[in-house]
Amino acid sequence: MFELTIIVDFEAAHFIQDYPGKCSRLHGHNWKVEVAVSGSKLNELGMLIDFHDLKAEVKQVIETLDHRYLNEIEPFNVCNPTAENIAKYIYEQLVNRPAFVDVAVRVLSVKVWESAHSAVTYSEVAR
Ligand SMILES: [Zn+2]
Repeated sequence: MFELTIIVDFEAAHFIQDYPGKCSRLHGHNWKVEVAVSGSKLNELGMLIDFHDLKAEVKQVIETLDHRYLNEIEPFNVCNPTAENIAKYIYEQLVNRPAFVDVAVRVLSVKVWESAHSAVTYSEVAR
């Protein structure tokens, strides 16, 4: 099995509702999103999926979050835009994209870095 990882970035503002500390105030992050996919069947070029194509798929999802005030947009208007919920949202959006439905390339995990030292990984795949 092959596992490929790409990283994309986005910038957004948020606050954490009911958080007992400074994260309850409006602030921004430069989020880093790592997406890992896996599969065993290579194409005629010897690739599982072109890194460029994988990044393009992830960027389509990230575009909905980039330079936004996350608390104002779905689904974060009803659930806190924590790194956990953002990772799950990106994962769910990705697995429903045509590139990853019923094909040989499977989304393994989405890791969201909120800072250089803090990240959350979301996955529904047993590893
Ligand atoms: Zn924050």
